Amino acid sequence: MNDDWTPPIPAGYNDANRAFIQALMARGTLTFREGQKVLAAIKSAVEGGGGDDVAPESITMAEFENFVRTAREAVEPLDYDIRNMRDQVRGGERVWAFVNAHSDPATQLGTARSPEEVAYIKRLLDAMFDHHNTPRLEVMAVDEGQALRVSRPARGPAARDSNVNTNTNGGMGGGEEDDDDDDNDGGTGDGSTTAAAAAASRGLKHSEVLSLLSSLVAEGWLDKSRDGFYSLTPRALMELWSWLVATYNDPDAESEWQRIKFCEACKEIVTYGQRCNEPDCTIRLHDICEDAFWRTRAGDRKCPKCGTPWEGNHFVGERAVTSRSGFQRGRGRRRRQTEAAEVAHDNGGVEEEGGE
Ligand SMILES: [Zn+2]
Ligand SMILES: [Zn+2]
Repeated sequence: MNDDWTPPIPAGYNDANRAFIQALMARGTLTFREGQKVLAAIKSAVEGGGGDDVAPESITMAEFENFVRTAREAVEPLDYDIRNMRDQVRGGERVWAFVNAHSDPATQLGTARSPEEVAYIKRLLDAMFDHHNTPRLEVMAVDEGQALRVSRPARGPAARDSNVNTNTNGGMGGGEEDDDDDDNDGGTGDGSTTAAAAAASRGLKHSEVLSLLSSLVAEGWLDKSRDGFYSLTPRALMELWSWLVATYNDPDAESEWQRIKFCEACKEIVTYGQRCNEPDCTIRLHDICEDAFWRTRAGDRKCPKCGTPWEGNHFVGERAVTSRSGFQRGRGRRRRQTEAAEVAHDNGGVEEEGGE
């Protein structure tokens, strides 16, 4: 333990604090274990002088949190923040991220990207949080085929999305049909006057989409699952949290079904977890939260809102698709299954979810 270290006030903020912020900015995220290594290296360098290195295990959570607190105070005036959330998919490890407090896809995921790529990222988010996120099928993830399907903006019929596209240049029509192949010669545009609108209508080639997706995975914005689904990482969720709520939720419909949902236990966003068996109930739980949640309820595994027994076999996230028996019969038939799910969506979600 190294309890004689005291947190500096931001005014007297020192080289160790500066190095910590730089490390966090360079990586984008840190888990506590990664933070221990970073701080041990920093302290060895700052306090060292050829002597003993500081062991990562000697960095306590309290010390790490002190560094985070000081860093937050230092970056807040610049509209940055350091937020944390648990990783919903990988065992719930907490992740700290350096975020732009007023982020939208263009300012953050879109940094150093072309207007065409920024417009594509917005369509990809619409695919995840609108098209593939309905009351009956809350996938909030897309497979590669679905990601390619929005390589170019949809024509007129996609107007059903326009009510959630307040920030996403919803009227960016004028592109070509989006299911044909890799021969994009640029959209014709429809008299759009701004470069952004023209770029939005042009779309990306399939090969460009695939390389953008892999760079978003490499940069830690997208996860790609074993079953081939792309979803937002904790870093992207922390970065886009307010934007997602403002873009996809209806503030006047608080008790109704909303596209962006929160865990009943921890109140963090749920894109991978469980849902109440009652299709119209809005209660959602992370897998990583359920044990502790049920422990506090004396073994009574009933939905806290509607009282329906909680069976834990109705899912939010890609398992809403992959838990279907049809999906499990063979990966070769995967594409057909997701298309079946889409047909169900297009038909108003009449298909029973969660198996047959
Ligand atoms: Zn939770
Ligand atoms: Zn319920």
